Amino acid sequence: MNKILLIGSTGQVGWELHRTLMTSGTVIPANRDPSAPYNIDLGKPDTIRTVIRDVQPSLIVNAAAYTAVDKAESEPDLAMAINGTAPGIIAEEAKRCKAGMIHYSTDYVFNGSQTRPYLEDDLTDPQSVYGLTKLAGEQAIAAVNDAYLIFRTSWVYGLKGKNFLLTMLKLAQEREEIKVVDDQVGSPTWSRMIAEATAQIVSQGCPDIYQFLAGKYGIYHLTSTSQVSWHGFAKAIFELSKSFEVGRLRTLIPILSDQYPSPAQRPAYSCLDTDKISEAFGLKPPHWNDALELVLLDSGLG
Ligand code: NDP
Repeated sequence: MNKILLIGSTGQVGWELHRTLMTSGTVIPANRDPSAPYNIDLGKPDTIRTVIRDVQPSLIVNAAAYTAVDKAESEPDLAMAINGTAPGIIAEEAKRCKAGMIHYSTDYVFNGSQTRPYLEDDLTDPQSVYGLTKLAGEQAIAAVNDAYLIFRTSWVYGLKGKNFLLTMLKLAQEREEIKVVDDQVGSPTWSRMIAEATAQIVSQGCPDIYQFLAGKYGIYHLTSTSQVSWHGFAKAIFELSKSFEVGRLRTLIPILSDQYPSPAQRPAYSCLDTDKISEAFGLKPPHWNDALELVLLDSGLG
């Protein structure tokens, strides 16, 4: 039976992973809350090493990260410690105990100037501290480990955590008018879809997940398919959700990124090509709109 160490089980993706991975083994959550039975603070390397050596997992799934994209601009060292250095330490420890490793990265490793979906080996060129640190994490893993999967995803949302869907639904209750950026496009991706795809891949690798990942190691893009702007995504949320009728919102206004300045630069184009993961593992990521419909139905809003 797999012993799966799940780092960051309180996050959007981690929370979904906790449930989906249960059918592939015993899931052991590790968090930065000091009162957690297994306490890992990615900013403190000794906590990473101690827990992994203690648990001796067969698989480590790292869903934890410094995800505050704007704040990272003023906390580059902390963001680098968590996103850039810690994944390399996890990878070292995974190799030491012959555990497979699954890690998540981002479209922010690219500069967003392309007009066709990014392939896994397209040139990286992060434009923000967050993107830079996530790229450093990818490189740190690849430098020491050869039984890992890195899933680059984008525009993650769900019914838990801080995300665009929940922000829009809240704002619709509070405001009559919302302005949303219309010149950044990407593929909104449901946190549960990421977790379910991860669990399917893990179950394909049973019983010897280490050997399985060693045979498939590398970076894969894992997002919904097709593209939409943030404004288009907001429009779809309100069209599909009943809260549009009951909320205060009357007008959704498209704006340019320049009209919504933020400390970190966001890629104008965030779409990732998912053919590689489909071919390697027989997965078919859903269209972003189909997934959104299911999320809203699941929440009782659709
Ligand atoms: P969340 O922000 O929802 O969750 C982050 C998790 O990391 C939380 O469990 C948090 O714990 C934990 N964490 C933060 N700092 C530390 C630390 N120092 N030590 C231990 N744990 C820590 O992230 P998501 O679920 O959205 O992201 C999952 C992955 O997907 C990440 O790798 C992220 O970079 C990537 N990704 C996310 C995107 C998005 O739109 N959200 C887009 C593209 C990629 P706590 O609850 O204590 O804060």
